[in-house]
Amino acid sequence: MASHHAGARRDRAVRAVVEQGLLSPADPDRQIVALIDTDGIRASAAALVAAFAAVTDAPVLHAFAVKACPLVPVLSLLDACGLGVEVASPGELALARAAGLPPSRTVLDSPAKTPADLRQALALGIAVNADNLQELARLDALVASAPTASPLGIRVNPQIGAGSIGALSTATATSKFGVAIRDEGARDAVVRAYLDRPWLTRLHTHTGSQGIPLALMAEGVATAYELAEEINAKAGRQQIDTLDIGGGLPVNFTSDEETPTYAGYAGLLAETVPGLLDGRYGLVTEFGRSLLAKHGTVLARVEYTKTAGGRPVAVTHAGVQVATRTVYDPVSWPLRVLAYDSDGRPRTGEEVVQDVAGPACFAGDLLATARPLPLLRADDIVAVPDTGAYYFAHPYAYNSLPRPAVHGFTVTDDEGGVSFSTVRRAQSLAEIVAEAGGEHADALLDRRPGGSVEP
Ligand SMILES: *Cc1c(COP(=O)(O)O)cnc(C)c1O
Repeated sequence: MASHHAGARRDRAVRAVVEQGLLSPADPDRQIVALIDTDGIRASAAALVAAFAAVTDAPVLHAFAVKACPLVPVLSLLDACGLGVEVASPGELALARAAGLPPSRTVLDSPAKTPADLRQALALGIAVNADNLQELARLDALVASAPTASPLGIRVNPQIGAGSIGALSTATATSKFGVAIRDEGARDAVVRAYLDRPWLTRLHTHTGSQGIPLALMAEGVATAYELAEEINAKAGRQQIDTLDIGGGLPVNFTSDEETPTYAGYAGLLAETVPGLLDGRYGLVTEFGRSLLAKHGTVLARVEYTKTAGGRPVAVTHAGVQVATRTVYDPVSWPLRVLAYDSDGRPRTGEEVVQDVAGPACFAGDLLATARPLPLLRADDIVAVPDTGAYYFAHPYAYNSLPRPAVHGFTVTDDEGGVSFSTVRRAQSLAEIVAEAGGEHADALLDRRPGGSVEP
């Protein structure tokens, strides 16, 4: 039940995973599994809606960034919570449509939309944010050729600077995203683009992500707001009626505490950009990580334990295939690791500095290095919380390791009953072979006359 806090729900789920056999030493498909806390997602979606409803009466579309957790059942759940989706590729749009998201709650962003992508979006009536002025020229042709219900806008980069993770800083001076409005002449070009096109009614910016301070995000939003005000003043009417303020709320990876909160961010926006919330502008948000990260957990069996150079090492079935960012950039992306025994009970006892390794065949495949934890033993279970966004839903095929099964869970009663439902089943060996060109096994053999394969 949602009344139990996240850690208690997780403990019950781990125990139930063992009891219900979702992890099992004997079954090769059941060495690793990912869990999604359904009640946690509902609570985060409700908190997001409530946070903005508390600061504005204007209509707000909360478009979940599909990139953060591209799983159809998750999108269906968010749809049921009244949220929309932000998609950035034909694949993400297909997932959203499979989940039943209506075009009216779908937003297309992407720095590399093809003419076909744009034509499809406009035919469906999906909102589109043009990334640059070349893309805008393509929209000109499409808008002239057929009427569309799509709300259309331009993405701007307010160039407010970087956060602590360079790869995720979208609003630096040289970011690849949007029109860089502090560049020479760019602001004027954007203003002119709007004045020349009465059908441009939105303005988009996405200034944050993990590692960006909230004040910097709010500054980016303020920059976009001021640009919208300037354009509307020059147009002599409320031409821009909706501001898309992007996503990017950072997530706390160090404990179960959910901080910062949506309420805190909405409050900061109300202080920093009061005019944005006075009812003249509809809003779109595009949060990804902050909606899902805390509600996903990877569970993996410990296969072996050993020592190397005097340090204990636990070799588990979770590594680079589910925690790619952490394994390749552990300093930017530290994850917690929690120890459970083979019955799924939390391991207590003295902490010992140890490494927690994954199954892949390269030395850097480590979930945690020199981490104090109760000493892990073979057949124990490690849990890796906070992995609901950009982790197990983004599997990496190193060593042809399979995509693990994903199950949603809810705690059903006060005695610890937990019910699971399959979100995605584990990838089979046959699927791995098929995705590795299995049906083209002869493709590279000699096809010349007299060669080993006849043409
Ligand atoms: C990635 C992305 C988001 C979501 O970012 P989070 O950090 O996951 O909240 C939103 N909008 C755009 C345009 C993005 O590229």
